[in-house]
Amino acid sequence: MQAFSFSKAPLEPERYRDSLADAGSGGYASFEGWVRDHNEGKHVRHLEYEAFESLAIKEGARIVQEAIERFGVNQAACVHRVGDLAIGELAVWVGVSSAHRAEAFAACRYIIDEVKHRVPIWKKEHYTDGDSGWVNCERCAVPGHDHALQHGGHVHHAHEAQASPAFSHDYSRQSALPEVGAIGQARIRAASVLVIGAGGLGVPVLQYLAAAGIGRIGIVDGDQVEASNLHRQPLFGIADVGQPKAQVAAARLADINQDVSLEVHAVHATADNVDALVAAYDLVVECSDNFRAKFLVNDAVVRAGKPAVFASVYQYEGQLQTYLPREDWPCLRCLWPEAPRDGLVGNCAQAGVLGPVPAALGALQAMEALKLVLGLGTEARPAVHVFDLLHLQWRTLRASRRVDCDHTPRSDASGRNDTKFNEEDLELEFPDLAAALAAGLTLVDIREAWERDHDAPGQRIEMHLPLSLLLDGRAPPPPQGPRYLIVCAHGVRSLGLTGHLRSMGYRDVYSLRGGLAALSA
Ligand SMILES: [Zn+2]
Repeated sequence: MQAFSFSKAPLEPERYRDSLADAGSGGYASFEGWVRDHNEGKHVRHLEYEAFESLAIKEGARIVQEAIERFGVNQAACVHRVGDLAIGELAVWVGVSSAHRAEAFAACRYIIDEVKHRVPIWKKEHYTDGDSGWVNCERCAVPGHDHALQHGGHVHHAHEAQASPAFSHDYSRQSALPEVGAIGQARIRAASVLVIGAGGLGVPVLQYLAAAGIGRIGIVDGDQVEASNLHRQPLFGIADVGQPKAQVAAARLADINQDVSLEVHAVHATADNVDALVAAYDLVVECSDNFRAKFLVNDAVVRAGKPAVFASVYQYEGQLQTYLPREDWPCLRCLWPEAPRDGLVGNCAQAGVLGPVPAALGALQAMEALKLVLGLGTEARPAVHVFDLLHLQWRTLRASRRVDCDHTPRSDASGRNDTKFNEEDLELEFPDLAAALAAGLTLVDIREAWERDHDAPGQRIEMHLPLSLLLDGRAPPPPQGPRYLIVCAHGVRSLGLTGHLRSMGYRDVYSLRGGLAALSA
């Protein structure tokens, strides 16, 4: 029989059991969930089950397969009733055959618990007072309450006492929207979203997506929490400084909503890992603070044919753009054929920002992501939305696909060839500063003075030209002649300055790729 199926007709547990009969099995355990006549103090006359079937069958089959693998049982299956059910009728059946009884019980228990939690099925209860109401599946998934709430639970052979119930996440205020409803909530639950960057944009994106009940969220961030992050990333606190952001964020989000499966990727998105990361999720929300990452992600989602939501902020201004994998839809490269140089555009470290600016843009990104998951706003036309939060103005710039953009990445200017001093390269990679010195480079530290305070004595770079002084002319650029390696914290400002110096006629100047953060400790 099928691992997971629906039946409009009354269930036939004997027939199902026979189909699981197996000569190698010493035991069989089953669970039957029955419709009972009361729920939360109300008398129930009958009820209806409705499922989002294509999605439910896929998820149900996955659960059964997980149980077979996890507990090493021989066979397992689950059948759920849909349509109108009378009191006393069988609503759901789970059966497991196995060599040993303990595994059979455990697998049976696992399947019914996971089905209630993960499979989009709802019931509408009809009460004796004539009233009726849809009971959100989430509410039926309260640990320890599931049998009692959903059915007159009855376990053949096995029933273990469960832990005392916790409060479940309540989605009623969003599922009350006609565009969301039970089906929409199931789509949210079934969705997986990759959030790249847990910073000023990423924090509100993560908070709202987790709170909304997105089933699986991947958090990509290779940085640690810094004290300077806190004013715009209030998911983090003083005690988190120095801790990996992705991990701290996951712990906080788990507190917000236990329904969400959180996956920590404590790495920077790079050319080597971005395709694998993007492949594992339905959609991507790009929340990094630099354009190199945005174009890296753009190219990956174009290759993978996945939707993505991009945003960026600069001082009091923010931009928002959604990419859809459609023939007529522009990608980031259609709009900016020459990728903006990082650092020239500015980032938060250099340009300064008030916390609510990235927060507003991040909230918009979360909204766009939920709309994509729910299939709302599909009539939208491609556009770049520009928000000026200082003057409270919002412009919508029409965007269209460029015929001369093949939607594929052009060769990366930073290159990956082994010729170290190719002028085509703007960036160079080194394992440590000693290797850069050994290669004959003169190091220039362009960080601000306060950023150097915590450097280890051996890490101190002699030539210090803070970018703020260079940019406003208070310090002269370094003399031409030596072959320079420009160094900053993450390689963003240094890349910008390198491009700037090249445009001023410096030929032999490079940026340390990834900055000091990328060097081995
Ligand atoms: Zn394009």
